[in-house]
Amino acid sequence: MSDGPDMYSKARALMVAEQLERRGIASKAVLECMGRVPRHLFVDESLATHAYQDGPLSIGHGQTISQPYMVALMTEALDLKPSDRVLEIGCGCGYQSAVLAGLCARVYAVERVPALFDLARANLMRVGVRNVSLKLGDGTLGWPEEAPFEAVLAAAYSRSVPEGLRDSLAFGGRLVMPVGDSGGQLLVLYSRGADGKVSRRTLVACRFVPLMRDHRPSRG
Ligand code: SAH
Repeated sequence: MSDGPDMYSKARALMVAEQLERRGIASKAVLECMGRVPRHLFVDESLATHAYQDGPLSIGHGQTISQPYMVALMTEALDLKPSDRVLEIGCGCGYQSAVLAGLCARVYAVERVPALFDLARANLMRVGVRNVSLKLGDGTLGWPEEAPFEAVLAAAYSRSVPEGLRDSLAFGGRLVMPVGDSGGQLLVLYSRGADGKVSRRTLVACRFVPLMRDHRPSRG
């Protein structure tokens, strides 16, 4: 990824300091990574000046790029090692994928909306992120050919963790996703021990878009 200065580098540094560090994101690796990824290049040009604001933004198709703090919180919870492989469900514009990609070996990202799948691919290519594999389809099924993963992240809520995602998690792995319904959700971190047992910890109340199931993607 290009590290050169850009006209948003100041806004990005402020975002990291005021929205992330001040609210308790402590991982140096996560802070540095989000200080590098050019968030303004992942949103529509008309929204670029809002890209570093403290909130979600529309990416079209009724979907949103998550608030920077939420991206940081989810990423930090996964406690990634450079050798980890990560499954990401609902990559939208590809911003969260780029952040994860800066902290692990490879991201396997699934998106069900064809136009967003194309957008993520174009954005990631434009910013020079090469360690993301993208798949168009229903992410609730996981990515069985590449499983298991040391970390799994879903950026859309469900009443419970879909079986396909639970089954994708390696022993010793971590899964983070919003769990709840349209009335509100909790961001939950599931850790699978070396013995295979899963423990659960609630991180924060949140609001995401729903994880859609049994949708057959079609172009056009
Ligand atoms: N984190 C993303 C945006 C998340 S919005 C970003 O940085 O832009 C949630 C995304 O999940 C949307 O793009 C939506 O299309 C996608 N999604 C919802 N259900 C899905 C499913 N079953 N499989 C794959 N993607 C899904």
